[in-house]
Amino acid sequence: MDRSGLELPTFEAGWVWLAGAGPGDPGLLTLHALHGLEHADVVIYDALVGEGVLNLAKSRAGLEFAGKRGGKPSPRQPDISRRLIHLARRGKRVLRLKGGDPFVFGRGGEEALALVAARVPFRVIPGISAGIGGLAYAGIPVTHRAINSVVTFITGHDASGDVPGSVDWSAIAAGSPVLVIYMAMKHLGRIAARLVDGGRRADEPVAIVSRASTADQRVLESTLGDCAAAAVAAGIVAPALVVVGQVVRLRGGLDWLGALTGRTLVADPLGLRSRVEAG
Ligand code: SAH
Repeated sequence: MDRSGLELPTFEAGWVWLAGAGPGDPGLLTLHALHGLEHADVVIYDALVGEGVLNLAKSRAGLEFAGKRGGKPSPRQPDISRRLIHLARRGKRVLRLKGGDPFVFGRGGEEALALVAARVPFRVIPGISAGIGGLAYAGIPVTHRAINSVVTFITGHDASGDVPGSVDWSAIAAGSPVLVIYMAMKHLGRIAARLVDGGRRADEPVAIVSRASTADQRVLESTLGDCAAAAVAAGIVAPALVVVGQVVRLRGGLDWLGALTGRTLVADPLGLRSRVEAG
């Protein structure tokens, strides 16, 4: 790549770069994240960061996994923070790489605050969050002028693993035409039921996007009433995002990945033109 004229910051020894890797496709890395990969001495990465991204690290870099694997419990957050601090104090260039964006349901803030407390210098590199970029790979815009002026990003479970008690599901059901739910698969049936209790229609469109932007991407279109059972029947696996709202219908026109393998896209997936013609 010709990067002449592009000035990227020097990765100084003893620094931690807290970076987002995007939803999976290495092409969705930022230039800062790529630069970090090319210069890091150690890369500490999460389960959501794929091989295609890690292959971009310089060959002498140490790669350390800090996520859940094979049902074993993940390293405790304080242990990860301690490791970052330890390596930085030993003069390493430490790239802390997380899926999507580090500050979106990624505990990046907690790790950064631990660095502040330890007086370790750091830089934050945002990434493309799966709830935006992953949906774009499914042909679903999170906002569309004819549909929504509001979009809400929600986590489907809290620190205890349960449906988050702090989420006011009826307020969200009433106030946000489009919902993007991370970590939703475990409690999808309960979440959908709470939204219907809050006034959402059971026939409202839902899409579940699994492993977005990777070679294994799958998209299941369903409805609020059926989505939990449909996900089980289709064998949809995590990581997956659930999007609720009329923007899902735009996929009929915007599934650009599907078009690459022969899907015919329709120019008016919402049927707005025919509605205008009918008066
Ligand atoms: N920081 C991340 C989110 C971490 S929470 C980001 O900004 O994207 C983990 C959840 O993110 C997963 O349970 C899933 O809901 C979602 N997720 C991350 N990557 C994904 C992908 N490639 N496809 C679908 N969902 C993904």
